Amino acid sequence: MKNNEKKCEMIMDAYLSLDKNEIVPLKITAHLLMCRECRTAVRRLSVAERLASRTMKNGFGTSAQNENHISMTKWVIGGFAMTSLLLLFGITMRDSSPAQQIVFYLTFAAAICIYCAVFVAGNLDFFIKTIKKLPPTAILKPLR
Ligand SMILES: [Zn+2]
Repeated sequence: MKNNEKKCEMIMDAYLSLDKNEIVPLKITAHLLMCRECRTAVRRLSVAERLASRTMKNGFGTSAQNENHISMTKWVIGGFAMTSLLLLFGITMRDSSPAQQIVFYLTFAAAICIYCAVFVAGNLDFFIKTIKKLPPTAILKPLR
């Protein structure tokens, strides 16, 4: 138990030493996915940061945030377009041999799996920080 707390402390120190918008290393991400306390702490920190930047924005102009981030709308449109085109292609090769159809559908499944994996890997920060939205008052409660 004591050992786990020490590991959590090391992970949180490593997390806090990251720059803003820096990609979270896999080791920290893995721990955050497994450890509920650290995940809650990170969510509270991101809520606090959002509130602070909102205050800054209202008071001091704009902040350049998420400059090289692909928006969720583009991911959805891209996935929908890919699936539609693959389905359309599948319909056009209805008369081909079963072996060709199996190859097509396996490629179809692999393309969708790769797309989903790239989507999740590219948005791990989003999934860790905002799977469950916390109310702004959550940062005021003690961690333990
Ligand atoms: Zn932890």
